Amino acid sequence: MGRDFYLVPELNTMSQEEIRRYQERKLTRQLKYCYDNSELYRQEFDKAGASPEDIKTMDDLRRLPIFMTKDDERKSAEDSLQKYGHPFGLHLCAPVEDLYLTGTTSGTTGTPTFSYTFTENDINFTGRHLGHRLSLAGVGKGDRVAFFFALGIYATTMTLWGLRGLGALPIDIDARAGTDLLLKFIDLTRPTYLACTPSLAEFLIDKTPRVLDKEVKDFGLKGLLTTGEIGIAIPEIKKKLESAYGCRAYDYWAPAGNAIGISCDSEEYYGLHAVAPDLCTSYDDLVDPVTKEPVDSDVDGATGEMVHTNLQREACPAVKYAYGDTVQIFTRECPGCGFKGRRAKLIGRADDMLTVKGVNVYPAAIKDIVTTFVPDVTGEMRIVLESPPPRVVPPVRLKIEHGKDIGQADLPGLANRISAALHSTIKIRPEIEFVEPGMLPKETRKTPVFEKNYEQK
Ligand SMILES: [Zn+2]
Repeated sequence: MGRDFYLVPELNTMSQEEIRRYQERKLTRQLKYCYDNSELYRQEFDKAGASPEDIKTMDDLRRLPIFMTKDDERKSAEDSLQKYGHPFGLHLCAPVEDLYLTGTTSGTTGTPTFSYTFTENDINFTGRHLGHRLSLAGVGKGDRVAFFFALGIYATTMTLWGLRGLGALPIDIDARAGTDLLLKFIDLTRPTYLACTPSLAEFLIDKTPRVLDKEVKDFGLKGLLTTGEIGIAIPEIKKKLESAYGCRAYDYWAPAGNAIGISCDSEEYYGLHAVAPDLCTSYDDLVDPVTKEPVDSDVDGATGEMVHTNLQREACPAVKYAYGDTVQIFTRECPGCGFKGRRAKLIGRADDMLTVKGVNVYPAAIKDIVTTFVPDVTGEMRIVLESPPPRVVPPVRLKIEHGKDIGQADLPGLANRISAALHSTIKIRPEIEFVEPGMLPKETRKTPVFEKNYEQK
């Protein structure tokens, strides 16, 4: 990573304290704008007995209650559809005729929300940040970026904006076209970077030799850009991808254009580096995922659900928006690259969290441990749920693919070793069922964490 971590040059010469003051200067102005222009935010401030002028520091912001969750956003969209005939919500702060770009997530759970709605100023500002972030992975003029997501025309559109801003050429193909076609396009367009989910990147390792008669290493990529799942945060997955592709794998994200972050060029994974502190306060504001009470997020290693508040957004700014991502925050300097700002490791979605005998357990933590048993396991697994989460009556049931060189006779011993590892680290004693390698479907979409037996009943 270069030394210019931030897009705005003056931020690169500031201390973390000065950056905090810079954020706070933008904060009050933005909150006042939201209060003046959105009936929803006006109501929320009034309900909290606060006015935007009162919110001068990060601590003031942290003391405000949560204004919005995913369900509230959906409700806000329904209300605005009824009242004003548009789905952008009562938290829309700009005139609807000024909207320039809109996009939604896949709508895998419930009605899609148009969280990616921007004015022209928004897309210029946010798009430049999204591009700058990828420049830290080396992407620049002349690069061709194979961009394969199942949501290609929706949420990820903004990143294409950023790529073009860098002078790179996106090769944007909907991952639902199927991997044969994706590989054919790689072969034809010779990209220098590949952006996709980590599970698709993994899937292509075995698939490529069957379709193209070459290995993924032969693509000669300069980097892999992965997002959408907890992937390279798991050491085994990072190692597997980097050695198969022969290049560095980076992890990047920006839920609804907030919390912009990217991992650095280090052997070890040191989390998403918060390279756009002038855009939002997501890395500075955490709450307990269950009680929604503030968590002291200035402590290195603090864990909680991220709360997003934009510092500069016109159309649909987030204000105290708890989006459902639970993270661990690191405030100390990155040992890999010297970045002094905040870093976050995604732990899971708040709605993926399980509670087992009152203890919070994240699927990612289970997978983290199971993958340390590669090659005795493939790394693919599901948590089998008999009733809706979060509460699980023990034992937690796991379905795990064993490795291809493991025989039936080896399975009981392997189950014991995995169980012991899970018990010593996260205090669960699972019931393990092994399945043959390749039995758990894994393809171009986000790989599911759970097998929900209760939905079939
Ligand atoms: Zn770093």
